[in-house]
Amino acid sequence: MSVTVRFAPSPTGLLHAGNARTALLNWLFARKTGGRFLLRIDDTDQARSTKAFEEAIYRDLAWLGLSHDLTDRQCNRLKIYSTAFYRLQQSGHVYPCYESEVELDRQRALLKARRKPPIYDRSGLSLTPAQRAALEGEGRRPHWRFKLSRRKVAWTDLVRGPVEIDTSTMSDPVLVREDGAFLYTLPSVADDIDFAITHVVRGEDHVTNTAAQIEIFEALGGAVPQFAHFSLLVGKSGEALSKRLGSLSLESLRDDGIEPAAVASYLAKIGTSDPVEPHLSLDALAAEFDFAKIGRAPAHFDPEELAALNAKTLHAMPYAAVASRLEGVSEALWDAIKPNLTRLADARPLAGLVTGAVTPVIEDAALAAKAAALLPPEPWDETTWPAWTKAVAAETGAKGRGLFHPLRLALTGLDHGPELKKLLPLIGRAKALARLEGKTA
Ligand code: GLU
Repeated sequence: MSVTVRFAPSPTGLLHAGNARTALLNWLFARKTGGRFLLRIDDTDQARSTKAFEEAIYRDLAWLGLSHDLTDRQCNRLKIYSTAFYRLQQSGHVYPCYESEVELDRQRALLKARRKPPIYDRSGLSLTPAQRAALEGEGRRPHWRFKLSRRKVAWTDLVRGPVEIDTSTMSDPVLVREDGAFLYTLPSVADDIDFAITHVVRGEDHVTNTAAQIEIFEALGGAVPQFAHFSLLVGKSGEALSKRLGSLSLESLRDDGIEPAAVASYLAKIGTSDPVEPHLSLDALAAEFDFAKIGRAPAHFDPEELAALNAKTLHAMPYAAVASRLEGVSEALWDAIKPNLTRLADARPLAGLVTGAVTPVIEDAALAAKAAALLPPEPWDETTWPAWTKAVAAETGAKGRGLFHPLRLALTGLDHGPELKKLLPLIGRAKALARLEGKTA
């Protein structure tokens, strides 16, 4: 069966690097296997989901280049969940409970005080019809729990290897709230069945859910997908990345001038056995994708490492990849300035050294005058700079920093910048001469 995976974000916040990694790993696996990538908007939590966050998800995925073959939103699919729930009711897999949040909190606190695990005691399961009627007479509405098998659930995780979870260590999960709203667990399984998801690839915070979900797949007679749970991304000092932690949102990375190719390369490679290197296309990353390379230790997200990778990515970028974003910058100019970039936004001022006017800084007037006199006629190329500076050195006796520093200051107004061998022929003789004479040109 061909691979179908899904990325299922909740539109309750901006996508952060951790969510983006989930999306990316799913996408790369689908691309590598020729499978399909479904985007599912998990918006069952109507109180916290917003249209604006949903739009931000589409925008961020498009920015990363993660196209999807299909998209759907859980709020459009409530009928499917009702049908699934009805089937679970008919087969006796769910039972109504009437405890309030406060009562459940109290139960958990009591169990904790007795040093027992805070597992729901299944009181709801033994209610007689008369007791139910009495509770409903008090104005209570039931919430519904799935009755776990209280047996061991095992699967071979594509990242973690063999996993076994005893569902007697868990509370029966609530599937439907007392107001009739579905919580995440059942819609997710119903959708995975309906879309014939073959692989569920997600963070290890869902490992425990998986045991309950496998039981729900089985109760509904659905094919159980394969699972891959990778370790979570953590901050530099091990702290969890929260969805609401704005600083690592894709939006903020984009605003900081990080290239999507750098983000994708970083997120595809951290926490794996591969080196973190720039990859200019998602296809190149997909070709190298393998669950076996993903380690089990938490992957550390280091903004400085990402910034360094961003610079390396820019240095490797061919002109065609940036031309549309750099109007008026020629290919030769791009090649001259790109080694000096840490962000694409730095390209503008550097390109201005050629395309704009520069106010020169004349540090050594005598040297500048001699250098001006020695400028060769055009045409110029990359041999011009070494030949010319050699002539200036011979004439003036200046060498090393004493030679190059005043020439750079005069030609660019800066004391560091792109290689002059490449820049000089682009600046051209007229501007170079004027700048050596101290004129803004
Ligand atoms: N909406 C869930 C989340 O964002 C999806 C989890 C899953 O992949 O099943 O955590």
